[in-house]
Amino acid sequence: MHSVKWQRTALLQREAFLLRQRVSSRMLRSARAAVTNMSAEMRGLLPFSLGLSALRTGQQAARAGGFKCELHGTRSVNKAQPTFGLLFDIDGVLVRGRMPIPAAKKAFSKLVDSKGQFVVPVVFVTNAGNCLRQTKAAQLSHILGVQITADQVIMSHSPLRMFKKYHNKCVLVSGQGPVLEIAKNLGFNNVTSVDMLRETFPLLDMVDHNRRPKLPSTPISNLPQVEAVILFGEPIRWETNLQLIIDVLLTGGNLSRVHQTQKTPHLPLLACNMDLMWMAEAHSPRFGHGTFLVCLENIYKKITGEELKYEALMGKPSELTYHFAEYMIRCQATERAWTSPITSLYAIGDNLMTDIYGANLYNRYLQERLSRKNPKAVAKLATAAGSTTAAIPHVEEAENMWESEFALPSATSCKSILVCTGVYNPQAEVPPDASQCIQETVFHGHRDFRFDPALVEPGQIVNDVLEAVEAVFEKEKFLLQ
Ligand SMILES: [Mg+2]
Repeated sequence: MHSVKWQRTALLQREAFLLRQRVSSRMLRSARAAVTNMSAEMRGLLPFSLGLSALRTGQQAARAGGFKCELHGTRSVNKAQPTFGLLFDIDGVLVRGRMPIPAAKKAFSKLVDSKGQFVVPVVFVTNAGNCLRQTKAAQLSHILGVQITADQVIMSHSPLRMFKKYHNKCVLVSGQGPVLEIAKNLGFNNVTSVDMLRETFPLLDMVDHNRRPKLPSTPISNLPQVEAVILFGEPIRWETNLQLIIDVLLTGGNLSRVHQTQKTPHLPLLACNMDLMWMAEAHSPRFGHGTFLVCLENIYKKITGEELKYEALMGKPSELTYHFAEYMIRCQATERAWTSPITSLYAIGDNLMTDIYGANLYNRYLQERLSRKNPKAVAKLATAAGSTTAAIPHVEEAENMWESEFALPSATSCKSILVCTGVYNPQAEVPPDASQCIQETVFHGHRDFRFDPALVEPGQIVNDVLEAVEAVFEKEKFLLQ
């Protein structure tokens, strides 16, 4: 079982806790205003158009019965058709390291009927990415005592399934674990690894003197030209991956060439999992993929003077991941012949900076979308946000693409629920000089995201996942048969 890998530090949690407790309403208002103007790119959305064709294909396949949205058992119409869906974080909510959290099994016994079928749509959203979703589904089935299918598991790289535009292009993948197998499983048919590049161009990997070729060598074969780069997770040999990825970006994917000096857009770059650090067994947090991205972004900028740009950023708290989760929840409802639209989502997690931030960010998108459809709601939203002018929220052109018939979310809200069984510690001591602590707070989120105290404000705080499920059932007045 993946440990509490992508979770942030206890310090970060305490900082967020302090912010939640102490930050002034003025700061909240200004931060809200800042995020209202946040571009779609900053939310990790661009270019969402890439995913639309895949969504169309998936939806059509689902209608034709071919989409693999497998819920166990046969179709049946539950008398109590749900109008809500649940998104569960895994580490700190259902498990701690390798140990299941006791409340989790009880919670899931409430989520299935006597035949073991889910009574509401459920997905698991994790930033882990170094294994196949089938593997994670099998682990969860074992832990929870309920059959979980691969389609219920959303890993940091899962939204790449939507990026069919790249599935037949030659993509370079970076990470560790079975990256080639993961890429193939996601639909990529022409994949190159950093190791394959290194073997073909041994003179390019020169940082480790012991790995330098002993004799002069020339490229041993012709690999196809790289057309896009996919960053799955932190690699083992950072210097090798950093060097070769920069080489690929500066040569347009053809490592036989020298670095190009003219300023041209670099190859499409897609990154999964932005977590700067993660907690393992060590006392202090360890470097995560976000740290690797910091290195890559800064090296690229130092060499070229230009910003490294991402075609897409995914994994929590990226809105793209939540949109994909919403789509998978809709898919489950369709598969079960639940005709009532799934209008409410509940995201249950233990991490303010990923689970709560991400759910609230997606909720903000849903609310803005609702406002565009209903101008009267704009004034209500503006009042709630403390604004004196009922300005229509800024809408990026790319966001309009979401209004596609096939990408249209049925959800109108995504509420965040924080549990206290993971990294969030409600007992954290507040230092005497909290204001100084706030000023010194460092945002560990990705470069393209902004810190906003309002986004780390959970909708509800409960002790554990069982209480979370009970609270949702009560709120939705959902009675089991
Ligand atoms: Mg967690």
